[in-house]
Amino acid sequence: MCGKGVLVPVDDIVSEIETYTFVERGRRCTACGEEFIPDEESQRMIKVARRLGLWGEPLRLHRKLSRSGRGTVLRIPTDIERSLGLRGDEEVTITKAGRKIVVEIRG
Ligand SMILES: [Zn+2]
Repeated sequence: MCGKGVLVPVDDIVSEIETYTFVERGRRCTACGEEFIPDEESQRMIKVARRLGLWGEPLRLHRKLSRSGRGTVLRIPTDIERSLGLRGDEEVTITKAGRKIVVEIRG
């Protein structure tokens, strides 16, 4: 969190999976626009996506980058975090490949 804004409830957080657009409820920071989706809400979206056959490998979620004082921030979606078993203190290698940013977890 940037610490500058307040989190207000919103119901227009847009996630795109493949060609489908999902609208979710959550909270958004008034200062930086960072969006927080509660777990049960993202699980609900994932369930729908699975039913539509959209949820497989690779997991592809669309999220907005946000700005903090020190740079650009990307939050790893909870579902990807879980499926990789991330603890949050891993070292990563970040590779730029054209318009893609590849994050490899080391060790
Ligand atoms: Zn913020």
